[in-house]
Amino acid sequence: MGNDCIFCKIVEGVIPSFKIYEDENTLAFMDINPVNPGHCLVVPKNHAPNLFESEPEDLANTMATVRKVARAVQQVAKPYGLNLLQANGAGAAQSVFHLHFHIIPRGRDDDLRMNWGLKSGNKDEIAALAAKIKAAVED
Ligand code: 5GP
Ligand code: ZN
Repeated sequence: MGNDCIFCKIVEGVIPSFKIYEDENTLAFMDINPVNPGHCLVVPKNHAPNLFESEPEDLANTMATVRKVARAVQQVAKPYGLNLLQANGAGAAQSVFHLHFHIIPRGRDDDLRMNWGLKSGNKDEIAALAAKIKAAVED
């Protein structure tokens, strides 16, 4: 693992998160600064800083979980649309250097642009959505 990696710590349960789905190789949890309600992240459990240095098998497992969780988000949040986002490098506004995919529900007029600023979310609202999406994940 990366020593100071916050997502490794989330994977290990050393720091808390609103978990949605977990299997042997991947973890999905709510983003703590959601750009829209239902914004969540999917990571491989094996540390890799970015796409370029990831193992193909970890990436394949991660994408299977992305699909699974995105379907649950779609069902619960019923967004106008849904984007996936994955950043590589500070120049792409990557701020956590453990490979992750953002699942971002979209609002009709949310005016969301790339490189949004971080704004803390309401923990109760995040937890409530986490519970609903968790229940909606199908195997
Ligand atoms: P990046 O900018 O690297 O693509 O995205 C990193 C994401 O991780 C950001 O959306 C940020 O809100 C989220 N994040 C950073 N620290 C934590 C944390 O401790 N817990 C959770 N759940 N999300 C985090
Ligand atoms: Zn890590």
